[in-house]
Amino acid sequence: MKLLVTGGSGFIGSAVIRLAISRGYKIVNVDCLTYAAGQNNLSSVSANPNYVFENANICDHNHLEMLFHHHKPDCVMHLAAESHVDRSISEPDKFIKTNINGTYNLLSVAHKYWRDQKFPDKFRFHHVSTDEVYGSLEIGAQEKFTEKTPYNPRSPYSASKAASDHIVCAWRETYNLPTLITNCSNNYGPCQFPDKLIPLTILNAISEKKIPIYGDGSNIRDWLYVDDHANALLLVLEKSQPGCRYNIGANQEISNLDLVKTICATLENVRPLKNGHYSDLISFVADRPG
Ligand code: NAD
Repeated sequence: MKLLVTGGSGFIGSAVIRLAISRGYKIVNVDCLTYAAGQNNLSSVSANPNYVFENANICDHNHLEMLFHHHKPDCVMHLAAESHVDRSISEPDKFIKTNINGTYNLLSVAHKYWRDQKFPDKFRFHHVSTDEVYGSLEIGAQEKFTEKTPYNPRSPYSASKAASDHIVCAWRETYNLPTLITNCSNNYGPCQFPDKLIPLTILNAISEKKIPIYGDGSNIRDWLYVDDHANALLLVLEKSQPGCRYNIGANQEISNLDLVKTICATLENVRPLKNGHYSDLISFVADRPG
C-alpha cells in the first residue's frame, strides 16, 4: 500500500510513518516543515527506500496535484494542521488557512485524483481530528463523548478542526468520496513539540523553572500514548468501510494538576532536586479564554 501522509514530520504523523514503514507500507510524507516539525522525528526511516519526503504546503493546489499525479497513492492520511490551542488564540489566521482552507484544498485534489483513477475501491481519505471538537464535559460527568455527540468547539483550534471535519463529511455525502474520520483525545510520547503540557512540564521541571497550570488544574483530559494512536489509525485505515467515523481514546482520564504532580513525583524518584521538590515549581496561571 502506498500511503500519502500529510504532516508526517510532526508528533503523531511521524509515529504513524515509523509504524507504517515497519509494516512494509510505502510512504510519501507531504509536510511544509513548520516550527512543529521535528528534524529528527524520522531519522530512523529517512534512508528507507519505501520512504519519500515532499516539502509541500497543503494550501498549494498545483503542488499537491503534481504530487498526486507523480506518486499515485493508494490512500491518504491527513494529519497536517496547526495544532496548539494557545497559538490558535494569539494567531488564529494560520489555523483557518491550514486547517480549513488546506483541508479543503487537499480534499479537492484527492477527489479529482480518485475520479481520474476511475474510483478505485480501496482508496480512502482518512482525516485525523481531535475530540476537542466536542467541547468539554462537566467535571465528574459519567458520560463520554461518542461519535454522535454534537460539536461544540471552544477555541479557534477546535473550531477550525470542526470545520474541517464538516467539509470532509460533505465530500463524502456530496461526491461519495471514500472518507474516514477519527477524533482522538490528547496524545503523549516521544517527539512531541515542547510547548505541549507533558514535555513542557518535564523540561521546565528539570531546568528548575516554574511549571504553569491553567486555572486551578481541575480540567480533566484523557491521555493516549502516541504509538497506540498510530496503531489505531492504521487499523481504521485498513479495516473501515467508507464513511466510518471513530472516536479514539485511552480511558485514562486525569486532571491537569494530578498529571503534573505525577510527573513531579516520577522525577523526584529518578532525579531528585538538591533543594526542595519539583512540585514546589507548580504555578497556577489564569485559564485560557474559551
Ligand atoms: P504537530 O503540530 O506536531 O504536527 C503538525 C505537522 O503538520 C508538522 O510537521 C507541520 O510542519 C505540518 N504542517 C502544518 N501546516 C502545514 C501545511 N500547511 N502544509 C503541510 N504541512 C503542514 O501536530 P500533531 O500533534 O502531530 O497532530 C497531528 C494531527 O492530529 C492534527 O491534525 C491534530 O489536530 C490531530 N490531533 C492531535 C492530538 C494531539 O494530542 N497532539 C490529538 C488529537 C488529534
